[in-house]
Amino acid sequence: MKPLLEINNLHVSFNTYNGEVQAVRGVNLHLNKGEALAIVGESGSGKSVTAQSLVRLIPSPPGLIKQGEVLFDGRDLTQVSEKEMFKIRGSEIGMIFQDPMTSLNPTMTVGKQIMEGLMWHQGYGKAQALQKAVDMLRLVGIPNPEKRVHQYPHQYSGGMRQRAMIAIALACNPKILIADEPTTALDVTIQAQILELMKELQEKMETAIILITHDLGVVAEMAQRVAVMYGGKVVETGTVEDIFYRPRHPYTWGLIQSMPRLDQKREEDLIPIPGSPPDLLDPPKGCPFADRCPHAMQICHEEMPEWTNVSDVHRVTCWLEHPDAPPVEREEPRVN
Ligand code: SF4
Ligand code: MG
Repeated sequence: MKPLLEINNLHVSFNTYNGEVQAVRGVNLHLNKGEALAIVGESGSGKSVTAQSLVRLIPSPPGLIKQGEVLFDGRDLTQVSEKEMFKIRGSEIGMIFQDPMTSLNPTMTVGKQIMEGLMWHQGYGKAQALQKAVDMLRLVGIPNPEKRVHQYPHQYSGGMRQRAMIAIALACNPKILIADEPTTALDVTIQAQILELMKELQEKMETAIILITHDLGVVAEMAQRVAVMYGGKVVETGTVEDIFYRPRHPYTWGLIQSMPRLDQKREEDLIPIPGSPPDLLDPPKGCPFADRCPHAMQICHEEMPEWTNVSDVHRVTCWLEHPDAPPVEREEPRVN
């Protein structure tokens, strides 16, 4: 089956006073119809930049897609006109970001913001669009939607704004929903409700989801497949089970080991592995994880490892997979 979305050899850079920051360095990923793919990694790993580049929402300048293609529905999204991209963002690829206050328009009622896409891109009349807006608010669990539809974002609570953003993103029934840390700013109870809602909508509307997160608990809850990013590169991909129970990349082992247990404070999941990520102004020519990897060998610093297929869907890029590599005692998989 042909994937719904295909990212080939994507390179994205930011020009800064200090030079070119190579934020995304040759990413290959695909998304199948109706599936939820999580992209995980520390901040600065390139996960958000990858997601924003798909819909050409990186600030440009200083950001620039230097190379690669994003194939969706027979088109290369790096090449389509701004006008067409605008239309795609409004109707075929929806987006939810961490902070609804920066993405919602404070000067427009929530209802109008849902209606916009329907009227511009889907040919709805005004009354019909208003009805659909009410329906969408009801669908995402906003109480009293007939009244709420006429209110402004500041009249909503944080959790309700997040729901409103989901309603806007899903109103046009997009094929893909990109959710970048969609629940990070919310408290745990509301976070769980929003995730539950996204899952429900994914099943009901068959929307494929790209979920960007540093929270492996969210991944376990939501995703079927995972891509682990480090230093601007994807270093491992597989099913959720592959990544949680059979991780092959030392960075992924570290991530899994650092998952907070119930008796730990949540903040602790932010400092998984000692050391800091590579400087993308001057990226390493070998494995990006080499400076922090407890198993690093000479060659790791010199040459980027090739991809190894562990199975049809489970792939990893690490020199330990090379037939000549010394054996390594793998850490016990973490089973909660
Ligand atoms: Fe560690 Fe080398 Fe594998 Fe990179 S390639 S993760 S440095 S063992
Ligand atoms: Mg981010």
